[in-house]
Amino acid sequence: MLSSYVGRLAADIGVDLGTANTLVYVRGEGIVVREPSVIARHADGQILTVGAEAKRMIGRTPAHITATRPLRGGVIADFDTTAAMLSYFIRRAARNRLILRPLVIVGIPAEATVVEKRALIDAALKAGARSAYLIDEPIAAALGVGLPISEPLASAVVDIGGGRTQVAVISLGGIVTSRSIRIAGDEMDGAIIDYVRRVHNLLIGERSAEDVKIALGSAYRVDQAEPVKDIRGRDLLSGLPRTLRMTAAEIRDALTETVQAIADAVKQTLEQTPPELAADIVNRGIVLVGGGALLRGMDRRLAEETGLSVNMSNDPLSAVVLGIAAVLEASEPLKGTLITAGKL
Ligand code: ADP
Ligand code: MG
Repeated sequence: MLSSYVGRLAADIGVDLGTANTLVYVRGEGIVVREPSVIARHADGQILTVGAEAKRMIGRTPAHITATRPLRGGVIADFDTTAAMLSYFIRRAARNRLILRPLVIVGIPAEATVVEKRALIDAALKAGARSAYLIDEPIAAALGVGLPISEPLASAVVDIGGGRTQVAVISLGGIVTSRSIRIAGDEMDGAIIDYVRRVHNLLIGERSAEDVKIALGSAYRVDQAEPVKDIRGRDLLSGLPRTLRMTAAEIRDALTETVQAIADAVKQTLEQTPPELAADIVNRGIVLVGGGALLRGMDRRLAEETGLSVNMSNDPLSAVVLGIAAVLEASEPLKGTLITAGKL
């Protein structure tokens, strides 16, 4: 009883600050926050709400409120807003848990700049952390799916998120080759919006596009009987609301180029991989993580494009935060994968 109480006081926190979703893990407890990375603010800058509630406001706000995704596009373009969101999530995880000045580990994209890294560390410290560390997302993702990243052996991970796709080959605890493109789930939504406008003269919103992507989208024809779904938007000719029935085949068409760009990024990364590691990948395959990997048939499509075996992770949306959790729960060795302000 007493020891669990003391454990809670000392609890440390891991944050996957994704372009689409933020997950927070509390050591000894589990994942306590899983929310869209969206923040709604009043014109004066005051935070109105963060997460799912803010996401529902996107595209529906009056002039005095803004609902934004500060990490969209894959870089920390809007730093102040990102910092405000990070500190909101850290405080929320600590609330009602008697967590005092936690150690905080935040996942960052492999291509983040020194300025961005410093800024995130500062934001975590400002939010009350006693110390703050960063970890490269591909490393965290590989750990999260249980790959033996510390060995002299290639682990290949493809993370298809909202704002970006990151492809990385890891060996001996470090990234050997990697590539990051700004084409992932958001781009798929955009491709659906463009397609529906071009082919059906209907203007639909981002949320509707994402819904139809999740309901019907595929990278490969998988089912015999393919589903259909009604979407609503504004007719470009009459200017009035209209309903349209979409088919899975049409959505697959709309997504062709985006999926191809992701497949090309994977192939280009593999082409730059040193031969011994490439041989490991032939033996061990590639692991897919990130919400975008849930697109039906993505694994099969990438397997066909690369000629390698491609394995979906069990819980692609949680891979990064579970990897950070593994570091928090582990004894010393894994701490070597962390980045501190001193190493920047
Ligand atoms: P990030 O790490 O950038 O926050 P996530 O890994 O959380 O991104 O993935 C979010 C993306 O995954 C979004 O673009 C979302 O639409 C997409 N997504 C989630 N579920 C599915 C699904 N079943 N099919 C296709 N895409 C999905
Ligand atoms: Mg992610």
